[in-house]
Amino acid sequence: MNTETRCFAVISRGDPISEVKRELAIRTLERAGFVYQAEEPEIILAIGGDGTVLQAFHTYKHRLELSGFIAYNTGHLGFYSDWDDLDALLQAIIEGHLITVSYPLVEVHVHSHEGQTSFLALNDFTIKGVKGSVQINVCLNQHLFESFKGDGLCVSSPSGSTGYNKSLGGAIVHPSLEMIQLSEMASINNRVYRTIGSSLVIPKHHVLKLMPERDSYIYTVDHESYFTDTIQEVRCNVAKEKIQFYRCRTFPFWNRVKEAFISTD
Ligand code: NAP
Ligand code: MN
Repeated sequence: MNTETRCFAVISRGDPISEVKRELAIRTLERAGFVYQAEEPEIILAIGGDGTVLQAFHTYKHRLELSGFIAYNTGHLGFYSDWDDLDALLQAIIEGHLITVSYPLVEVHVHSHEGQTSFLALNDFTIKGVKGSVQINVCLNQHLFESFKGDGLCVSSPSGSTGYNKSLGGAIVHPSLEMIQLSEMASINNRVYRTIGSSLVIPKHHVLKLMPERDSYIYTVDHESYFTDTIQEVRCNVAKEKIQFYRCRTFPFWNRVKEAFISTD
């Protein structure tokens, strides 16, 4: 991290414990000469759980090159956070003892009769039906790959692979790999309908196109959800942008996975 980095913002989950920690962080950093700057922060501290990291990401996704995120966990899973000692974390920020790691993101373009909307997802994009199963043609690099029929589809980033994607049986992917992963939600497979069944890992520069049959859909980008009955196609690819996290201790991704899903010993 640049030692000149001095402007910061704090996003809290809003519960009493996170709010107390937020006040403490602001007081301590201001006393050390840092400036609270909600508009253009260089350091973004998310206090809460993964949902809070997603909220912080979506608040500041227009500043990804200029800002780094730090996640401090106050309960829940906190897969993104590797800090449980706020004093040590604040000290590391003050002393500039932070290293930067970058994680890939999913770029999503939703085309509907109303026009095109673009999103960046830190975890995932999902699309599901409102009334029941849905039919979606899946194209890879402009070629029809399969016709999916089932509950829906999930496109995750490497760091999002431990979220919804994992519940769908997708692989856990190290965030040094620049890829997106397509996973099925309960595909119907019989004589009439056939999908690959396995999750697909799609590299950078390849384009995944989802063409849903005319119907009503709910689609999600991380924690946000949207209703549409005018969707035409969705394009997903590895984003040019990445998210930067600031870390002060080595906490390898596989240790993070083990602590989150197996045990903390
Ligand atoms: P939520 O319903 O509170 O999240 C569900 C759980 O997923 C929480 O325990 C959350 O951790 C954890 N989580 C979030 N991102 C993760 C990641 N990258 N790796 C491992 N666990 C992760 O909603 P939310 O907190 O706003 O998170 C939205 C995310 O939830 C979506 O992006 C999607 O990945 C996931 N999700 C999962 C399912 C499922 O598994 N069936 C269904 C819907 C959504 P915290 O408790 O620390 O917040
Ligand atoms: Mn949550």
